[in-house]
Order: sequence, then C-alpha cells, then structure tokens
Amino acid sequence: MSGLLKVVRGIELTKRQKQIVEIVKEEQPITGECIADKLNVSRGTLRPDLSILTKAGFLAARPRVGYFYVDVRPLSYSLQKLIIGEYMSDPVVVVENLNAYEAILVMFSKDIGTLFVVDEGSSLVGVVSRKDLLRTSIGKQELTTIPVHMIMTRMPNVAYCETEDTLVDAAMKLIDKQVDALPIIQKDGNKYTVIGRITKTTITQAFVQHIK
Ligand code: ADP
Repeated sequence: MSGLLKVVRGIELTKRQKQIVEIVKEEQPITGECIADKLNVSRGTLRPDLSILTKAGFLAARPRVGYFYVDVRPLSYSLQKLIIGEYMSDPVVVVENLNAYEAILVMFSKDIGTLFVVDEGSSLVGVVSRKDLLRTSIGKQELTTIPVHMIMTRMPNVAYCETEDTLVDAAMKLIDKQVDALPIIQKDGNKYTVIGRITKTTITQAFVQHIK
C-alpha cells in the first residue's frame, strides 16, 4: 500500500486487509466467498475486514456482483506519468534557406502553425510560427527574398523536449515560453534531430483521453 493511499484514506491497514485489497485489485469483481477461499479463512472471519475496507473507501460492494477496488489516487498523480513519446505527432521540418513565401505555403498545405527549421546537417536551428510570417508579411520586402533563418526564433532560444520527458514537462515549457508547439528532439552530440512535436492541442487531447 503506498504512502499516498494511506494519507488519502487516513487509516493504516492490517496485513490481512492489505492482502484483501491486492486480491480485489487483481480479480475484481470478486465475491466475499472467493476472497475467503483465497485466504483459506471463512467468510465470517473476513466480514469485519470487508466492512472496514468498504467504509474506508478502499472497496465498493455491488450486490450479487462482488467487491471492486476504488482508485482514489488524485488525477495529477496519473497525469504526471504520461510520457511525450506516446503522444507526440509528426513534425513538419523545413530547411533554413526556404523563403518566407514558401514557408506560408507549407503551413497551409500541412495545416500546421509551427515549422521547425533545420540546417544542412538536419539539426534543429530554429522555429518559425504564424506570427513570424505575419510580421514579415507586413514589412516592405518581397517574401520570396527572405529566408526563414532571418525571421525564425533561433537556438539556443528554442524550447524543446525529449521523448522520455512527461507531457507535464512539455505543458510547463509551453506556458513558460508562451508558445504553441515544441519540437521533440533526439540528441546526438551537437546534432539535434527533430523526431516529433507536441502542441497545445496534443496536450488537450491527451488530457481528455486520460479522464474519459
Ligand atoms: P503564433 O505565432 O501562431 O502565435 P507561437 O505563439 O508559438 O505561435 O509563437 C510566438 C513566437 O514564439 C514566435 O516568434 C515563434 O518563433 C516563437 N516560438 C514558437 N515556438 C517556440 C519554441 N518552441 N521555443 C521558442 N520560441 C518559440
């Protein structure tokens, strides 16, 4: 039994009560008779333990069905276990000499708001967002003459994550930097290969999936 559960439910369980909880977790729904069989005791012997566990909220009993385990871990506990690698989507990556006009076309065709910019060695060098392109569009210069490396946010100012980081880590970076998307990168020495992306939408979807 984790310390967390003890705190949440406020009681310390006996050895047998812990065994009952483990059995119910594994085999739910399970009747009192079956639990008693597994522990080699009579149903009557277990009655006080089952009553305590039900009253304390560890177990719920449904007539003619049996006992269920009641998971009361706070949502934040399980949300913190969501790993980026399982939720990231494909990145859209462009080379640094792509011009601003072409970058706008890529954004529309890929239906995406953020482009990750790489150098000739395919290593992340920057990020171009809708606002960067809008800002450039209201200037006087011809868009086809402006390479994205001139208007992008460049390394080392780009916030990124790696696959084993959590979605909560990503969410905190999105909030901290006030941006919509993060590249997910794989580091190999000085080379930062972009292997995915996490956006505000990804995190919202993961959150909803998780609580359904
Ligand atoms: P939008 O332009 O659609 O509002 P953002 O809010 O993500 O999109 O971008 C705002 C600014 O932050 C832009 O200048 C962009 O280059 C920069 N930016 C976007 N993503 C990142 C990131 N992961 N790290 C650092 N800067 C970023």
